[in-house]
Amino acid sequence: MTAAFLTRFAPSPTGMLHRGHAYSALTAFTAARAAGGQFILRIEDIDRTRCRPEFEAAIVEDLAWLGLEWEQPARRQSDHMADYRAALDDLCARRLVYRCFRTRKEIAATIESAPHGAMEAWRGGPLEPEDERRRLARGEAYAWRLSLAAAERELGGLVVLDFEEQGAGPGGESGRIAARPDLGGDVVLARKDLGVAYHLAVVVDDALQGMTHVIRGCDLFEAAHVQRILQALLGLPTPIYRHHRLLTDAEGRRYAKRDRAETLREIRARGVTARDLRRELGFD
Ligand code: GLU
Repeated sequence: MTAAFLTRFAPSPTGMLHRGHAYSALTAFTAARAAGGQFILRIEDIDRTRCRPEFEAAIVEDLAWLGLEWEQPARRQSDHMADYRAALDDLCARRLVYRCFRTRKEIAATIESAPHGAMEAWRGGPLEPEDERRRLARGEAYAWRLSLAAAERELGGLVVLDFEEQGAGPGGESGRIAARPDLGGDVVLARKDLGVAYHLAVVVDDALQGMTHVIRGCDLFEAAHVQRILQALLGLPTPIYRHHRLLTDAEGRRYAKRDRAETLREIRARGVTARDLRRELGFD
């Protein structure tokens, strides 16, 4: 599908939506409407241990309540593991990824602090073949990490890549942005427990779904740097990025699930209408 303007809202069903999500979804939806384009919903549920069907159902209901419309059914990432596997196999065959045997405990802190597993900036490389064989023989689990060193060789340098930012990064970055994959380091592309990880799934889906614009919070600005490299390695098109500011509460804190931000459900139960909320968030 090649639409002139196609964007998405891509929540993970790990909890209920709050104002921050509503703001993000409305930003993408409104932009699509303004451009005469299309808006879709994508459910990012590769992490089956944290995602729940009831959260997915609530997301759909809350977004519909908010007045959003999208093509049905929404793409659910867990239905497309074979697509991510094929992309990973391609990178494996070209030796652009390597096995990483760091223990769960060692990487847990990273995953906890960055839900996208992105900003660890670790750079390593494959183990010595002998060591790797021994660990494989023992049945030790491993993740697949992107080798920035190999990517650099493959692409003839990483500095040649850039992307268009029509919104702004957290530091106000906009315009043509030179990709800085070193910010993310050798990111995990396939988690030990899942066989895939956020960046790989997103890049594959954005391409498969023909996304022309990626509109999302600026907390994911650094992710665009990593995703740009993956697009280049996999021969996929690069969408235009529009990162938006993060909504903050009266105390200036960003809304977050872990801080128990008031959910759209709770807001609705207080008798607030979708129209009221859209107004409060600066839409309508
Ligand atoms: N699933 C991600 C999240 O819930 C968003 C991914 C994206 O927009 O690229 O934060």
